[in-house]
Amino acid sequence: MNYLRKLPKFDYLAPQSIPEVCEMVARYGSEARLMAGGTDLIIMMRRREVVPRYVIGLKGVPELNFIREEKDGGLIIGAMATSWTIQSSSLVRRRYDFLAKTAADIGSIENLHVSTIGGNLCDGFPCVDFRR
Ligand SMILES: Cc1cc2nc3c(=O)[nH]c(=O)nc-3n(C[C@H](O)[C@H](O)[C@H](O)COP(=O)(O)OP(=O)(O)OC[C@H]3O[C@@H](n4cnc5c(N)ncnc54)[C@H](O)[C@@H]3O)c2cc1C
Repeated sequence: MNYLRKLPKFDYLAPQSIPEVCEMVARYGSEARLMAGGTDLIIMMRRREVVPRYVIGLKGVPELNFIREEKDGGLIIGAMATSWTIQSSSLVRRRYDFLAKTAADIGSIENLHVSTIGGNLCDGFPCVDFRR
């Protein structure tokens, strides 16, 4: 079964800032994949659907993890905000309750804590929930 295959070998890169991420993406191009929560990427790698030589982990980039209300009333959500953070944010619940409810539906409690909105939207699957 594809699910039981071991992860292929890769080098894990841990940038600390957005400029560092950009530099790594520019350097390694299609040899690298970004990893947010990894809930989809790890499965894709185990199935050998993608076999990146480098995995660029985004966990150590604090600038990507935020939910912020703008002065003009807009709401900005960083790519690394987790489904859990979004579904439990009083700001999101008050302003965009449908988004909080969507986030609350992204799988099990474990998955909620790890999966991110950026990973969901960049997944490439047309059926992911944040695209609704
Ligand atoms: C048990 C389980 C239940 C699930 N239930 C649901 C569900 O109900 N609804 C649903 O929609 N999905 C579901 N999923 C799928 C998955 O959890 C979500 O799509 C999740 O939001 C993906 O986020 P991630 O942070 O784990 O992404 P990752 O797996 O880290 O990344 C997914 C893809 O996006 C790319 N990527 C990640 N971050 C970025 C970025 N900042 N910029 C560019 N590319 C990026 C990665 O390279 C990869 O190709 C489930 C998965 C599991 C394992």
